[in-house]
Amino acid sequence: MDTIDSIDPSTGHVVEAVAEATAPGQVAEIVAAAAAAAAPFEALGRGFRAGLLRAIGDELERLRAEIVALGMRETALPEPRLNAELTRTVYQANLFADVLDEGSYLEATIDHAGETPMGPGPDLRRMLTPIGPVAVFGASNFPLAFSVPGGDTVSALAAGCPVVVKAHSSHPGLSLLTFRAMAAAADRLNAPTGLLGIVFGTEPGAALVAHPGIKAVGFTGSLVGGKALMGIINDREEPIPFYGELAGLNPIVVTEGAAAARGETIAAGLVNSVIGSGGQLCTKPGLVFVPRGAAGDALVAEAVRLVSAAPAATLLNARISESYRSTNAALDAYPDIEVLAEGGRSTAAGFTVTPRLLQVDASRLHDQELAECFGPTTLIARYGADQPETALSGLPASLTGTVHAEPSETDRIRHLSTLLKEKAGRLLYNGFPTGVLVSWAQHHGGPWPSTNTLHTSVGTTAIRRWLRPVAWQDAPTEVLPEELREDYPLIPRRIDGRLLLPR
Ligand code: NAP
Repeated sequence: MDTIDSIDPSTGHVVEAVAEATAPGQVAEIVAAAAAAAAPFEALGRGFRAGLLRAIGDELERLRAEIVALGMRETALPEPRLNAELTRTVYQANLFADVLDEGSYLEATIDHAGETPMGPGPDLRRMLTPIGPVAVFGASNFPLAFSVPGGDTVSALAAGCPVVVKAHSSHPGLSLLTFRAMAAAADRLNAPTGLLGIVFGTEPGAALVAHPGIKAVGFTGSLVGGKALMGIINDREEPIPFYGELAGLNPIVVTEGAAAARGETIAAGLVNSVIGSGGQLCTKPGLVFVPRGAAGDALVAEAVRLVSAAPAATLLNARISESYRSTNAALDAYPDIEVLAEGGRSTAAGFTVTPRLLQVDASRLHDQELAECFGPTTLIARYGADQPETALSGLPASLTGTVHAEPSETDRIRHLSTLLKEKAGRLLYNGFPTGVLVSWAQHHGGPWPSTNTLHTSVGTTAIRRWLRPVAWQDAPTEVLPEELREDYPLIPRRIDGRLLLPR
């Protein structure tokens, strides 16, 4: 049986064996247990689930020192970043508890029986219900907030779905530690057995997706990995939803006005956004349109200075560092792309790489096959006249699109916004796309290939991915969920077409 090893990214060496790869029979047992937990978990109701999520948050908080220390060792991410990510992870669990208390996510709707313009109508009651056991593939680059205890897991638990997580090979020790923390919270509250499961190994992960007991899959990772799992889903007897957070360039456009007014400040924010966390953020700006001329030159000169001073970055794993090197080699092979700056040199030890700043003329962008370069590299595209608009319309879609402009450039901002809205799920103004707030209004998703769905994986509406609408027609009260019974006072409901707020 394969051993799942924990590797130190700073040396590339195995530190310890964490687990055995999950055997095929065990995958089936874990999914069967999750399936058996589904109905009892749903029956425990929203109050129980809110309590469970808060207990998970408390347990993660209690283990903070151990989690952060192991996270640093397994990912090479710095202590402040991991502490902040744990805070976000705990907040996220508690926020989904608030979502359950508030209840509008259910879309509870009642049409009483009565006369309609089409004749007599039945009593109809509709709301969203849990989809069933789901598989969650944690991300390598957010070992907490997008991994085992992350947003996919807590939003699915909030929805009422048992969760089987696939531990990422980049941080198996942290996956196990955080899984045990969640399982301890579930045990303390006497949650149904099998509610939470964990699978180790690439092949067992594929078997999990193929298993008929799994009703949806959440994934954060590469386009190649996502396509492989979509292929497995396509071969299933029963198709199921696949929610993939995949890839993107996250373009930024700096207008002439913004470059002239605050070029150096923009350069500082940009470089910070590109090299933070080793550039391993799905929202890292990978393509930046800067005007030709003196103001653009000054912005670029400051970016050159900052990237040249940036230290080498230790990336998360061998796969990501190899992909960084090969993507940069492909960019270097384009005759139109020039290297403007390189930071600290990578060493032979571990998965260290060199931060890089590249430049191309925007009019030559369409000659390149531009793909995401995951890591601390960004490409500056210099433009004149109307070139950013022309180049933007030919780009693949991303999670984000950003405009840096002066308030007086109203028409320009409007035009760029229209173009970027076609290409991205979150539009930013005079900011940087890294750092995704977990909140009620957040959207983290975009047109293919940034994601493959209309949904978000960050923010409260992430719960929608794990819900299935059901309508009850002329149902006796005793079969209705309590939220659809007459006079249930605790959540917003639409009754006979009118939205009524809780009393
Ligand atoms: P990855 O290679 O796609 O791996 C992600 C997960 O999928 C891992 O658990 C991996 O298993 C599994 N997997 C991959 N291919 C598989 C296959 N053929 N069969 C079964 N399981 C498979 O991604 P990564 O290397 O962890 O992350 C880096 C990439 O993710 C970057 O390129 C970045 O673009 C992207 N990313 C995107 C976002 C976003 O929100 N859009 C966020 C973070 C990262 P093993 O661990 O066992 O190999």
